[in-house]
Amino acid sequence: MALVTLREITKYAIPEKYAVAAVTVFDPMFAEGVLCAAEDMRTPIIMMFGNTKVVNRPDYYPNFYNYLANRCRHSSVPVCLHLDHGPSYEACACALRVGATSVMIDGSMLPYEENVAVTRKVIEMAHACGVDVEAEIGHVGANTTSHEALGTDDHSIYTEPFMAQKFAEDTDCDALAVAIGTAHGLYKERPVLNLDVLKEIRKELDIPLVLHGASGLGEEDFSKVVEGGINKINICTALVVKTAKNMLSTAQNLPENSPHFPIAAANFQTAYEETKKHIRWFKTKQILPPMTEKRY
Ligand SMILES: [Zn+2]
Repeated sequence: MALVTLREITKYAIPEKYAVAAVTVFDPMFAEGVLCAAEDMRTPIIMMFGNTKVVNRPDYYPNFYNYLANRCRHSSVPVCLHLDHGPSYEACACALRVGATSVMIDGSMLPYEENVAVTRKVIEMAHACGVDVEAEIGHVGANTTSHEALGTDDHSIYTEPFMAQKFAEDTDCDALAVAIGTAHGLYKERPVLNLDVLKEIRKELDIPLVLHGASGLGEEDFSKVVEGGINKINICTALVVKTAKNMLSTAQNLPENSPHFPIAAANFQTAYEETKKHIRWFKTKQILPPMTEKRY
């Protein structure tokens, strides 16, 4: 199945009130677990890549992204390959080069006019290549455990609904990340979600709305944000921390001189189980009724 854009993959999410899981992947085994979960559940999925360094080699990421794009093109469900938190025009251009069908330009820390300017510039380039663009207005902060951590707790600033509408009009972005009280990384205290802000924004806009910083929210929170109009939910920290735990306990129980296969399997299996769980929480609709349609 071909790679699809962000608008395409969230096409039914707004009218049918569900969200598509967007998972940041760093290595092939983890990525395979995420993809297999979506394939087995027959749901669309957004595979995200970002800037975190895992292997200190300049050729690792170009090679991994090429591998990932190729694997996603052969998936049995629709996949959107998305750059998360593109810090610049240049970073977004590089993502297009490796086959992304969607990019995020994050100008949320910039003054409004500069955020609009860089977002418009990226959109002009991306749309010329048939690629969609997610932008951010308001700022989703970072907890100290975030892969985007700034070293101190950095709190969210709620998105103003009228600014969201103005920003979407000024930029013509394809999807919008909104700040409704979540923050990147693991929470020390339970976040306070502002669902009224979300509902106001949903009323004003007909493009997909994106939730960042969702690690640590539970089933009930997800149910509320999906009902409130969120259509793409980014997950990273929750999955990678759980995966590390499972890989570590597997390693500790491994007899001496054993091959590493069970540790690699724990990587795959945790990504698989956790992705499935989140897809269920996000109420993602299947692309086909299960086994009721003649497929070939
Ligand atoms: Zn984010």
